[in-house]
Amino acid sequence: MNYSERLAALPFHFWSVVFFALGATVGSFLNVCIHRLPRGESIVSPPSHCPHCGGRIPWRHNLPILSWLWLRGRCAMCGGPIAVRYVLVEFLTGALFLGCWIVFGRESPALALVYAAFLAALVAATFIDVEHYIIPDEITLGGTVAGFFCSFFVPALHGSNGPVGGAQGALIGAALGGGVMYAILRLGKWLFGRERLRLEPGSVVFFGEEGIELPDRFVPYEEVFYRPGDEIRLEAERVELADRCYARCTVRLSRDRLLIGPDTLDPEQVPFMEVVTDRLQLPREAMGLGDVKFMMAIGAFLGWRGVLFTLMTSAMIGAAFGVAAILARRREWSSRIPYGPYLALAATVWIFAGDAIVRFWLGR
Ligand SMILES: [Zn+2]
Repeated sequence: MNYSERLAALPFHFWSVVFFALGATVGSFLNVCIHRLPRGESIVSPPSHCPHCGGRIPWRHNLPILSWLWLRGRCAMCGGPIAVRYVLVEFLTGALFLGCWIVFGRESPALALVYAAFLAALVAATFIDVEHYIIPDEITLGGTVAGFFCSFFVPALHGSNGPVGGAQGALIGAALGGGVMYAILRLGKWLFGRERLRLEPGSVVFFGEEGIELPDRFVPYEEVFYRPGDEIRLEAERVELADRCYARCTVRLSRDRLLIGPDTLDPEQVPFMEVVTDRLQLPREAMGLGDVKFMMAIGAFLGWRGVLFTLMTSAMIGAAFGVAAILARRREWSSRIPYGPYLALAATVWIFAGDAIVRFWLGR
């Protein structure tokens, strides 16, 4: 027997254990990515350190899952708590790797590995999006490129036998995923892209350097202005600037322009503005370009069928979660929701159960 035959002769569930352990280890690395990528920090150096005492974590205390359980979720040096999220991500990634091996391992170990790596990226994207409302380009654009490579070398991803067919599948999937998502983004912007706020008559709204002081909350400008076209509009009873006043006029503020009645001003030159009004219109973002790029990466791995399934299923999951959250009074209609996790969840469902669900839908 040669080397690879001997490897293949090992029992199937020996490899199950290997996949779970590999997944848990990858999960440990994902924890680093989840913490550092959105902060623009390097994911290779410095080595892991405790967030409380800053002490470097020795490798024997950095074993996935086991260390956390052994140390009961505390730092070995200072006793500070280590978040449950760390062990959760390690366990989840281990379980997903195990699932890939059990479902695809017999058919093609290479396919199992590619799916496992793709799911690892989905885990990182999900946890980052929930916390920071972004999905880093390293995952979305990097994932699209990785999808092409993997499709070329493992064309079974797209049900093809040759590298050309695989690359074609990735190209169509990425174009469809990115294209449809971009169309949805523009349409959503057009339909729901504005939030109208009703205020008590005579309310005072203060525009400062950093954001807008509403009677009940503070809205930072960076949450309002995403693109050059984004604009705050209001009908003012009265407008007060440092050196002048206006009465009964329309105010329109974008990142680089302030229109008050007939006057055009440079917002940089207006340190503050006080407005008396009873209604206000803010631009609102349901989805971002990050979701478009994310869907492109998903398409590169899963092809056009996976894209259609992911788009439809994510909308259903998102609607279900949204209604549940509103019923539980955990959220208001107008609040911002990251959409990436729904895409990730739907793509995961497609990988493990997509064929079965589509057959069920089509009644076959
Ligand atoms: Zn510590």
